[in-house]
Amino acid sequence: MRETRTRFAPSPTGYMHIGNLRTALYTYLIAKHDNGKFILRIEDTDQKRYVEDAVDVIYKTLNIVGLKHDEGPDIGGDYGPYVQSERRDIYKKYAKKLVELGGAYYCFCSRERLDSLRKQAEENKTTFKYDGHCKSLSKEEVEERLAAGEPYTIRQLIPETGKTTFEDAVYGSITVENSELDEGVLLKTDGLPTYNFANVVDDNLMGITHVIRGSEYLSSAPKYNLLYNAFGWEIPTYIHLPLIMKEGGRKLSKREGDASFEDFYEKGYLAEAITNYIALLGWSPGTEQEFFTLNELIEQFDIKGLSKSPAVFDVNKLRWMNGEYIRKMSVEDFHKLALPYYKKYISSPDADLNLLSKLLHTRVDVLEDIEDHVDFIDTLPQYDIDLFIHKRMKTTHDNALASLEKAYEVLADLEDWREDTIHELLFDTIKEMGIKNGQMLWPIRTALSGKPSSPGGGTDLLALLGKNESLKRIKIGMEKLS
Ligand code: GLU
Repeated sequence: MRETRTRFAPSPTGYMHIGNLRTALYTYLIAKHDNGKFILRIEDTDQKRYVEDAVDVIYKTLNIVGLKHDEGPDIGGDYGPYVQSERRDIYKKYAKKLVELGGAYYCFCSRERLDSLRKQAEENKTTFKYDGHCKSLSKEEVEERLAAGEPYTIRQLIPETGKTTFEDAVYGSITVENSELDEGVLLKTDGLPTYNFANVVDDNLMGITHVIRGSEYLSSAPKYNLLYNAFGWEIPTYIHLPLIMKEGGRKLSKREGDASFEDFYEKGYLAEAITNYIALLGWSPGTEQEFFTLNELIEQFDIKGLSKSPAVFDVNKLRWMNGEYIRKMSVEDFHKLALPYYKKYISSPDADLNLLSKLLHTRVDVLEDIEDHVDFIDTLPQYDIDLFIHKRMKTTHDNALASLEKAYEVLADLEDWREDTIHELLFDTIKEMGIKNGQMLWPIRTALSGKPSSPGGGTDLLALLGKNESLKRIKIGMEKLS
């Protein structure tokens, strides 16, 4: 048995699409499940799309999610170079070889001629297909025109009759009429290959055993098989992955913020949660298990669990899963992740950030939620005194004022300002006053946060804001109520 070798072959577009990341993940899992090799190849032959730094985005993303490649442009390997633009000569050599083998031919058609064919197809409402104009050129004529330096492309030669069948591990056996296939360009006038040619040459030369990619390439697979056959090369196992859609069948969109890994990552989604969630977009373990570490995925991933129906990307489900990951981590680890957010939104030196992490650890699904939870810490928001009235807490303007006055009095004398000492003092006071807990705690919470909801109750907020700030805010509450 050949060693399993898979490749992730992104085109550097400047960001990592969630669909591409899923392809990378499955590609990695299939290799690692078999103790095989996961290869990174950069497909940059479409120079128009090349974006500076775009390759770095690819390295960075793979690194963050922990998909370590065994061979690639940055670490080398026995099958390099791993960047297509550095393999120019190889494609040219193989394109010429394919002409000799009868699987391709030179084409000298001008852009004008091709444009007019395209226009014609458009007018006739048919899909454009090259008309085979240059197929019948004699060998001598081809030689002559090449010697004269005429620009040329090399096109795939497709049998005019018959059918081509290919097998896909997910979609099964698919057969098409050869007459439906376009004799597309393999090598362009600038000497660079088209994707359709480069991927076949590279996959073969790099010993790729399993080709995993999006189902948008499914319709091209028969052409790839004809290429493999013309070269006499072994066809790899094809694994085409279903589309990822949003609820209602819409595509993920970078503009709407749900297509790019970096966008999610920057919002404070955890790499582990994203990986876990996308592993399940199109694959099922066949059990109820929903939470997987990368190692568990390697162990359990099986091509048989792949589905061909479009996967639905549900951002709320991802949010929930992310929250579960946060809740499962220790408060200390959460604190480390939350610190940059605190730095951004809190400047008050008295705020007890360790306590804040204890309060937020179970209240945050995504780290960017932190902003809304802490927006009252530096500055007390404007609030209406009706916020003091809470039916279930049985508060009125009068009893709220009485509670705040008493709280101010006892708290002003408290030296050792800690959550437990504050708690003890307030509960003693509540008892002494003969009131309900909420009648004391709700007014305090309101006076301190100025918001209908806050991370933690009255005693938490007192400890969080510190003595000075707390007393200042209680006083403001008292003034509003009197
Ligand atoms: N470069 C192609 C893309 O980014 C990869 C397709 C493939 O994996 O064969 O879509």
